[in-house]
Order: sequence, then C-alpha cells, then structure tokens
Amino acid sequence: MSEGPTYGFDTLQIHAGARPDPATGARQTPIYQTTGYVFRDADHAAALFNLQEVGYIYSRLTNPTIAVLQERIATLEGGVGAVCCSSGHAAQIMALFPLMGPGKNVVASTRLYGGTVTQFSQTIKRFGWSAKFVDFDDLDAVKEAIDDDTRAVFCEAIANPGGYITDLDAISAISDDAGLPLIVDNTSATPYLCRPIEHGATLVVHSTTKYLTGNGTVTGGAIVDSGRFDWSASDKFPSLSAPEPAYHGLKFHETFGPLAFTFHGIAIGLRDLGMTMNPQAAHYTLMGIETLSLRMQRHVENAEKIAKWLEGDERVDYVTYAGLESSPYHDRVARICPKGAGGLFTVAIKGGYDACVKLVNSLEIFSHVANLGDTRSLIIHSASTTHRQLSEDQQRAAGAAPEVVRISIGIEDADDLIADLDQALTKATA
Ligand SMILES: *Cc1c(COP(=O)(O)O)cnc(C)c1O
Repeated sequence: MSEGPTYGFDTLQIHAGARPDPATGARQTPIYQTTGYVFRDADHAAALFNLQEVGYIYSRLTNPTIAVLQERIATLEGGVGAVCCSSGHAAQIMALFPLMGPGKNVVASTRLYGGTVTQFSQTIKRFGWSAKFVDFDDLDAVKEAIDDDTRAVFCEAIANPGGYITDLDAISAISDDAGLPLIVDNTSATPYLCRPIEHGATLVVHSTTKYLTGNGTVTGGAIVDSGRFDWSASDKFPSLSAPEPAYHGLKFHETFGPLAFTFHGIAIGLRDLGMTMNPQAAHYTLMGIETLSLRMQRHVENAEKIAKWLEGDERVDYVTYAGLESSPYHDRVARICPKGAGGLFTVAIKGGYDACVKLVNSLEIFSHVANLGDTRSLIIHSASTTHRQLSEDQQRAAGAAPEVVRISIGIEDADDLIADLDQALTKATA
C-alpha cells in the first residue's frame, strides 16, 4: 500500500511498509531467513557495493523483513527513514556513532533508563566520548552544559523511572540554537502517545523490546531520522558531511540528502559495528506493532485507574504518574503526549525498604522483572535489585529511593490488578 497523509495511525500500524510478497502473494510479511542474496550479475553487485543502487547484499546490512519494520516505525514516527538493530542499547550507540568522536560529549537528562545512565557514564568513555548529565527541567542548566565539543542532546520523552514528561519543545529550541541534533528515546511513550519529531527531535531511538513488540519476547532497537537536520551547516559532523574514504570519497549528506543519517547507519554503522537485528525478531515486533494503539489505550486506561487508586490509599506515600492531577508534569500531558501519560510510574510505600520487599514478594499477578512495556504487569524494587550497588543518596537522585517501587502496568483487568496490589499492600504493611 502507498502511505499518504490521509491514513490514520491504526491503518499505518498494520500496513505501512508492507505489501503482499511479490514472489508468492503471501499476505503476512514473510520471515526472510537468509544471510545472502544472489546478484543479477557482476555489474549489479558492483553498483550495490558502491551504493549506486539500493538492494540486498548481506543480512548484516539489510534484510527484507527488517526493511518492512524499518519503514513501519519510520512512518509511525513521521520520519524519513529508520535503521533497526539488535537492542535499544545498540540503537543508542548507533545514533551517537556518526555524531561523536574522541573528546566529544553528549548533554543528557538525569532522568533516564538505568542502563542508559551506565552506558553513558561508564562505557562510552572507552570510545573517548563522555556525557554531561543535567536536570532537563532546568533549561538554563541545559544551555550551560552545551560547549564547543557537544555533538548531541539526549533525553526520554516519557522518562524513567517515574513517567516524568520532558518538555521537548523547550529542549529542541535549545538544541536548534546550538546547531545540535536532539535525540529522543521514545521507548516508554511509543509513537502512539508521543511523536517527538513534531516537537523538534532530530532522531528518535527505541528499545523495540518494550511496547512496540509488547509481550516480552525479543530484544531490538531502532533509530528514526527526521530528515530535517542540516549536517553540512557546520564542520561538526564530518562523518555525514565530509568525504568517506571507505566509499571512494562519497559525501553522505550531499549524496543522500535527508536520508544521509539512515544510509550512514546501514552502510557504515551496521556494516562495521554489526549490531544487526535478526529477521525473527523483526517478525515478532511487526506482529506487536499491529496492535500498538489498542494496547497503549489499555495501558493508559489501566495506569490512570490504578495510579489514582494507589494515590488515595493510606498505605501509600506518593505516586509519580504524570496522568494524575497532583503531578508537576500533568500540564505537559496535553501538549507532549495527548493520548495519555503511558503505563509507567513509581510508588512510594509507607514502611520503606522492608515493606517494598514484602510487597514485591506478595504480589501474584505482577511479576518481579527488570523489564517494562509488557502486556503483563511488572514491578521492580530498584533499591534491592538494579540500583543495589549505589549509596542511598545516589538511589534517591536516580528516582530509585529505598521506599519506591517502579510499576509497568499491563493490559489485564484493572480490577484484578487493584485487588492484587491491595492484598500485597496489606501483607507488606502489616
Ligand atoms: C529498555 C530500555 C532501553 C534499552 O533497551 P534494550 O532493548 O534493553 O537494550 C533504553 N531506553 C529505555 C527507555 C528502555 O526502557
């Protein structure tokens, strides 16, 4: 099908990027379980390797099943192209890779998925890159953190662990002024709830492991390009604007225009970093995306109901859900994620660390799992698990205080989830 602006989200989540298989007529997208593709002749092979013709060479770079997923995610996000890869963390490295270099830094929000904090504060140092973490609600601090070596600004749309909402319009105004790309991790919101490109994002990254696949089966990631950034406006992004020795001096931005970042991600990123998604994973994620809007509606509906119930319970100290009127982020919902504040929040339990541990042990429907964005409801007590190596001060700064649990609300019956929380809270606070 040809996508036009006239098709709605529910239509595009099923059809974008896909057409009946040209060889067999298969209606569902086949899993092209192949590593290689036969070239028509030697000239065809040469044209493909020179990037003069687009086609399939080898599945580390491109695969027809993954190509459908890439086009579907790009369409849902309103981008010009996307590259899929092996995990959300791979997507983050793939997004930064063409922008950064030794001595360069990324200015990142303090409110990020725990694994991203570790990747940015520790591991990227091995490449000579660094991250400067600042509170993205303090716009002056964001401006001040940007220096001559900054190459990107990074945040989450609906941020971990508390479901905080980032003011993407204000942050993109700052990155635009500085001539820098804004990278938004849209994992917790999904394009159904938030479309960061409409708020000025240059690139959108995803852990497709979460809501896009939706039921906790495969890991994957994606980088979507808005196609709007002028990589040649300064000399800051030579990977995209200057001649590339590995392709006979080809300049990606000059040659591919708005698709420069996407082509670079495949022709250099996947080729040399090899963080490739496999076609089975792409299949599961395509199946998940077909029902994305339906699931997100239920995630939001359940989260609103359960957060409200928890907030009114005397055994609970506070709830951080931005969908609640008590949240300082409530005002941003209508502007940034008008279809709802997602399914993720934290809850502080009276009785502290011990009560949280008992709560987690007493729940029957909720699973104690280090994942989110599943059809199943999930809970984690960060202070005794993912954040247990940190001091209490560090735990509090990360939103993982000892008395706090993080909840990812699933799409089960809300009343069953409330009953489960009720019985577990009784045991936890007895
Ligand atoms: C899970 C997650 C990641 C990392 O994704 P993986 O697929 O686990 O590598 C990054 N950002 C957010 C917001 C996440 O929830």
